[in-house]
Amino acid sequence: MTGSSGKHRIVVVGGGAGGLELVTRLGRKLGRKGRAEVTLVDRAWTHMWKPLLHEVAAGTLDVHEDELEYLAQAHHNGFRFRLGRMIGLDREAREIAIAATLDEHGAELIPERRLGYDTLVIAVGSVSNDFGVPGVREHCLFLDTTEQAERFQERLLATYLKAHSHGGPQQHAQLHVAIVGGGATGVELAAQLYAISRALTAYGLHEIVPERDIAITLVEAAPRILPALPAHLAEATTKQLERLGVKVMTGEQVTSVDDTGIHTKSGAHVPAGTRVWAAGIRAPAFLADLDGLESNRLGQLVVNDTLQTTHDDNVFAIGDCAACAWSGHEGNVPPRAQAAHQQASCVARSVMARVRGESPRRFVYSDYGSLVSLGRYSTVGSLMGNLFGSVSVEGAVARLFYLSLYKMHQVALFGVPRVAFLTVANIFRRAVHPRIKLH
Ligand SMILES: Cc1cc2nc3c(=O)[nH]c(=O)nc-3n(C[C@H](O)[C@H](O)[C@H](O)COP(=O)(O)OP(=O)(O)OC[C@H]3O[C@@H](n4cnc5c(N)ncnc54)[C@H](O)[C@@H]3O)c2cc1C
Repeated sequence: MTGSSGKHRIVVVGGGAGGLELVTRLGRKLGRKGRAEVTLVDRAWTHMWKPLLHEVAAGTLDVHEDELEYLAQAHHNGFRFRLGRMIGLDREAREIAIAATLDEHGAELIPERRLGYDTLVIAVGSVSNDFGVPGVREHCLFLDTTEQAERFQERLLATYLKAHSHGGPQQHAQLHVAIVGGGATGVELAAQLYAISRALTAYGLHEIVPERDIAITLVEAAPRILPALPAHLAEATTKQLERLGVKVMTGEQVTSVDDTGIHTKSGAHVPAGTRVWAAGIRAPAFLADLDGLESNRLGQLVVNDTLQTTHDDNVFAIGDCAACAWSGHEGNVPPRAQAAHQQASCVARSVMARVRGESPRRFVYSDYGSLVSLGRYSTVGSLMGNLFGSVSVEGAVARLFYLSLYKMHQVALFGVPRVAFLTVANIFRRAVHPRIKLH
């Protein structure tokens, strides 16, 4: 199985939490040594680790300081990078279709094209699922991409500035934020927003009085927030959020959204000038009908225990866009960065085995638990250990494990010495920069 160059062609589509780790490993092990041609295709020029997006949205993280350039990563690690958005697949010809690349004015930069592969790995992640609720697309902000997170931050800052320059909010609920979805993303965003509202007034936006003008409401359909954590931790988090001034509404199913706020099934109306939807995920729409590959109701590609798609051994899928049965559990492996990380490691070994003519490896997901950070206020979570089952952690220990997930991602991309250097540099950088991005 080789292309015209005589080398096995490996194409990874999507350079996110899973895909970038995978292509970096394959580049180092195969591409650099000339054993295969390794190519990454992504619709963006840069990578930002998605679990940091709520910090970008809140302005507590400057994306330009933490993002990674794909071209540079490719150059240093033995793979090629091609900018483009995958839109289709021809399994017989073993080619993917890539949409024309346009500039910011809509003019065509690169025409629609095809790229051949011998092994294809699809790692295109997920997008927010609006479940067809009327008004969500038009009136809510999402945190699916870096651009969306940045737009959220710019809008929030503009709203604060406007209110400040007018001596306070001009309309009812102008500075109210409603977040739909009480999972980790919604909870973490709520805590971050509380922190920045305090910081902004401390930096001089005195005309805004947080207790009077600002309201943050978290709306969740289930009876409690944080379904992935034990009930007592969800309860502790609810109390902590409420102490911060966040209103937590559970058992409230959103029925529609308009420009005044959020309406729920019980008849409640949550007035909010800014509305964020973080209530669940689905796979990008183009996967639902990808040249006969099997997909589920969320549009995820169904894979077997080697992470190969059920109808085509040449096509693997990993991360949020893959539906992979969780052995010994009901349902699938959850859409989390730790799952994408583990799947990337497994598929890296499988693809190297394929190049040698050997069989792919089986994937077994190890759940190391879930952690939720309330910024500097608290971190809670449960860690899964084989010996002790689930262990609840809070405070400094939880914070350490929370940070270690990102460090593991960085180590996979840069290696230990560079990550140590970056960590020290970051400590110095944070010491001299404001806690929030102000422009
Ligand atoms: C705000 C937020 C907080 C989160 N916090 C946590 C957390 O604390 N812990 C945790 O475990 N998980 C967390 N998650 C979930 C986690 O981010 C995802 O599970 C993880 O990023 C999935 O990795 P992935 O590689 O499948 O996809 P992603 O990391 O989303 O990467 C997908 C990549 O594919 C590219 N792409 C998409 N479509 C195309 C296309 N058609 N053609 C080419 N390229 C394409 C994108 O540009 C992107 O680079 C969080 C998610 C969000 C949004």
